[in-house]
Amino acid sequence: MAEYTDPRGDAAAEEMPELSDGDDDDFDEDVWQSMEEEDSQPVTVTCLFCDRLLNSVPATLQHCTEEHQVNLVDVIRKHNLDDYGYIKMINFIRSTKSDASCLTGLPDAPLPWESEDFLRPVLQDDPLLQTDPEELCESLSPSMCPTSQSESHGALQQRAQAAEERARLSEEALARAMDDLHKLKLLAQDLVLNAETSKSAKLGAVAELREDEDEAYFSSYGHYSIHEEMLKDKVRTESYRDFMYRNPEVFKDKVVLDVGCGTGILAMFAARAGAKKVIAVDQSGIIYQAMDIVRFNQLEDKITLIKGRIEDITLPVEKVDIIISEWMGYFLLFESMLDSVLYARDLYLADGGTVYPDLCNISLAAVGDSQKHQDHIEFWDDVYGFNMACMKRVVVPEAMVEMVKADTLISEPTVIQTIDCNTVCLSELEFASDFCLKITNTTECTAIVGYFDIFFDKGCGNKVMFSTGPQVTKTHWKQTVFLLERPFSVQAGEELRGKITVRKNKKDPRALLISLQLRDRKLFYSLQ
Ligand code: SAH
Repeated sequence: MAEYTDPRGDAAAEEMPELSDGDDDDFDEDVWQSMEEEDSQPVTVTCLFCDRLLNSVPATLQHCTEEHQVNLVDVIRKHNLDDYGYIKMINFIRSTKSDASCLTGLPDAPLPWESEDFLRPVLQDDPLLQTDPEELCESLSPSMCPTSQSESHGALQQRAQAAEERARLSEEALARAMDDLHKLKLLAQDLVLNAETSKSAKLGAVAELREDEDEAYFSSYGHYSIHEEMLKDKVRTESYRDFMYRNPEVFKDKVVLDVGCGTGILAMFAARAGAKKVIAVDQSGIIYQAMDIVRFNQLEDKITLIKGRIEDITLPVEKVDIIISEWMGYFLLFESMLDSVLYARDLYLADGGTVYPDLCNISLAAVGDSQKHQDHIEFWDDVYGFNMACMKRVVVPEAMVEMVKADTLISEPTVIQTIDCNTVCLSELEFASDFCLKITNTTECTAIVGYFDIFFDKGCGNKVMFSTGPQVTKTHWKQTVFLLERPFSVQAGEELRGKITVRKNKKDPRALLISLQLRDRKLFYSLQ
């Protein structure tokens, strides 16, 4: 590529007087005066096609139009010349001494002045090169190019229409971008609040955004990763599959409602199990994938997908025989999606119909894990030589979602609540329960662990259940751990009595507030 200098910018810069080291006042006076004089000097422009000298750029253009029948503005527009293209054209004409005919019948590409060599000015201080082609096109009054006025009227109209269309498309794109930005903001807040890529990570921002609460919740389910995590949880997904495939008599010719269908996996299991019709509902954008998935698997005749909150839409049928849903959150009730299933049950379930899964247990057990306690609590006593013990006050009350090692359990588990999804009412999802933990080891009790079990039971010849407890295969729900700031000693054979209350957080109904009364202490936790 040939080296070149910017024929306008640099030429102008070269003419700038050097800054003097001397007295600033002298500089001001003399220099500004000389610059003003230069500015007011008349320019002399040599015509591109003959030796005629003209006293301005517009006069030169008019001369070219009238004498040489070349309208340079039209040429610039026709070939969409930018600054460099324009400069190269001027220098090409001057260096090759081409006559006006060189500009007529030009191909769209390649233009004869494409070489970078034509960036080199042919005439010193050529005023034509100091002109911005865009300005030229915009400022040139129609009277200066009378021949082009009528010629380009249609072209001008076309350009105006094209510009209008571009503006319309830009406005649409802007609206979409604003919408995306809003969604991104919610997602980002969500991610910042919860670094893990787990269900809680997707749901953490809910409390922060009351007015956008459901939007944040559903947009978290719009991303594929959460569905991948759930589908790969074999304990979960295979339990639903086994329940449906092993109990075809339950599904034969039944109308099934899938509340929160996600990718459509449960709806497809139900269809394969023999359901007559499945209506699958989800508010999250994942349903668009479900629509493709259902079609790819040739189940579109059986499965009807509806985008919307189950609370907002109207089903195309009056009643359904079965409701299936995977609504469970951490510690079973986090996320409060069971509320939506109960809404659907009360509105759509036919007499004698069933909600599956039908039974759920929430259980607690005592934990003695001094290593975990050390990592999460004592850690704050000495952090790089500093006492941060005050942090315990914020760390302890946040229930943790993590795997508990089975060999750290120091009591038998006990069920604190059983929920029958076919009969439970909304108010019963907040409860208080006394419990008794039979201690199995003489040691320090460092935490209480909570988890749940799920049963597909009613009317099933082949019952299916799964547990999210620490003694069986891990699930994506892990367990919920309530750390004790101050561990206490327990004796094997002892009965550790306590009381638990579980309530929705009024500020964020998808989150939970849990209190534990153990020995003489009352401890408060949140799950969010
Ligand atoms: N059934 C799927 C997805 C379960 S996750 C599976 O088993 O893999 C729960 C789904 O329910 C999410 O996709 C969420 O968007 C949807 N959901 C939650 N509450 C809902 C409501 N009230 N109305 C519609 N969809 C809901």
